Amino acid sequence: MSKYNYDVLVVGSGPGGKHAAIAAAHLGKKVGIIERKSKLGGVSLQTGTIPSKALREAAYLHSRFSARGMRTVASKSTNISDSEFLQEAIHTKNTIVDKQEAILLNQLMRNGITILPGEASFKDEHTLEILSPKGNKDTLSADIIILATGSRARRPKEIPFECDNVLDSSSILKLSRLPDSLAVIGGGVIACEFATIFAMLGVKITIIDSHENLLAYMDSDITHILEQHMLEMGINITLSTNITAVESDNKNVTIHTDGEEINTSHILYAIGRIPNVELLKIENAGLKAEDQGWIPVSENSQTCVDHIYVIGDLAGRPSLASTAMEQGRRAISHAYSKHYKHLSSPLPMAIYTIPELSYVGATELELKQDGVDYVSGHASYSESARGQIIGANNGYLKILTDRNTLRVLGVHIIGETASELIHVGQIVMGYNGTVEDLANNVYNYPTLAECYKSAALDCLNKLEQ
Ligand SMILES: Cc1cc2nc3c(=O)[nH]c(=O)nc-3n(C[C@H](O)[C@H](O)[C@H](O)COP(=O)(O)OP(=O)(O)OC[C@H]3O[C@@H](n4cnc5c(N)ncnc54)[C@H](O)[C@@H]3O)c2cc1C
Repeated sequence: MSKYNYDVLVVGSGPGGKHAAIAAAHLGKKVGIIERKSKLGGVSLQTGTIPSKALREAAYLHSRFSARGMRTVASKSTNISDSEFLQEAIHTKNTIVDKQEAILLNQLMRNGITILPGEASFKDEHTLEILSPKGNKDTLSADIIILATGSRARRPKEIPFECDNVLDSSSILKLSRLPDSLAVIGGGVIACEFATIFAMLGVKITIIDSHENLLAYMDSDITHILEQHMLEMGINITLSTNITAVESDNKNVTIHTDGEEINTSHILYAIGRIPNVELLKIENAGLKAEDQGWIPVSENSQTCVDHIYVIGDLAGRPSLASTAMEQGRRAISHAYSKHYKHLSSPLPMAIYTIPELSYVGATELELKQDGVDYVSGHASYSESARGQIIGANNGYLKILTDRNTLRVLGVHIIGETASELIHVGQIVMGYNGTVEDLANNVYNYPTLAECYKSAALDCLNKLEQ
């Protein structure tokens, strides 16, 4: 008999918590998952990843016929107003979220995981107090504790979020009608995604950021193509600009900057995330957060208290659902000393703007800074038959390869299905593959994946010169 109530208690039912709980259940452990919200799935399912991607798909479809030069079909088939379209899109998004939540519930129950509604905080390093939605308190203990409490949008007090037309990444997904105009504050992933989604729905967008470029850490060839697309969509890009104050009268917003004053009907504030750490009372377990609130962990997600693991957004960057899931599985493997065979491949990153971007490995700037002797090969979607058929004329794929070893060092893609295509490059890099492997592979025809062959051959041609 264990001296604890559970083998594993997981706090948070987002992608990190879910995967940790299921991995532990697969090892035959007694597992409980604690969730303070009435709905399961965390930010990923309820207010972030899935809802935003569902809305993106609707915006993308809205423009699809036009992109293929079939404007007459587009105008006949979408004989509804943009705001009616938004309502349909929100309804579809809600249906997708509900279905995904039902699947999640089924997965947890099928694996014998106990769902414990309530807010968890530490009493000591093995014991959690659970405050139930009805206000009752219970204490439960566990041999292993996994913290997966995620993060929330940063809402600085000088931004008037109490006004209906001042939005963050959660409230924008609940709009019932399209704004007349939207100023997006920030130039990161969430800002760029929503800017292109709402531009596609016909909203006049201004994006304002203090940096010189959008998505500043990405390969500059790719971000320049994105900026070009944004300008073609009519998005006004205002860079190197700092906001000094924001005023709203619930109808209009005035944004004061160190440059011009900007007037708009709505703003989306999309700068930064804050870890959900305060309620956990981690000091009772001997844990300490860093200045910004993130809890430091080892590469296996273990904290300084051996049996407590922190995964997902609570552990800081890269703050993605994709990595949170894997961290959950790895933490459980580590806790139970299971040999865990995983590729040491670099993490892929996808940005679901319209068009979407994806990359894996180094950028050209990073290689230059590190003094690496590399060659880049390029391919355009427009030169592939599939690109022409689907009307994806502006896509672009770039491979960076080491001049001496021919190893692939990075892949950068903009264009349709970039988030799917990137995994070819990622797997090759994970196995220390070379640009010759990519060039010699046979790809289905016609596909966008053929761009790998064209870009790899471009690299090899340059190497022969
Ligand atoms: C708009 C948006 C779009 C995004 N798009 C993508 C994308 O395309 N791809 C991608 O990979 N990532 C994306 N992300 C990021 C992704 O959503 C997060 O990285 C992911 O949700 C983190 O998972 P998590 O398990 O750490 O936490 P979360 O998903 O945040 O879940 C944490 C859960 O813990 C619960 N909780 C918190 N404190 C307690 C407590 N004390 N007791 C009990 N329960 C508690 C919360 O209620 C919540 O349900 C996006 C995020 C946003 C905001």
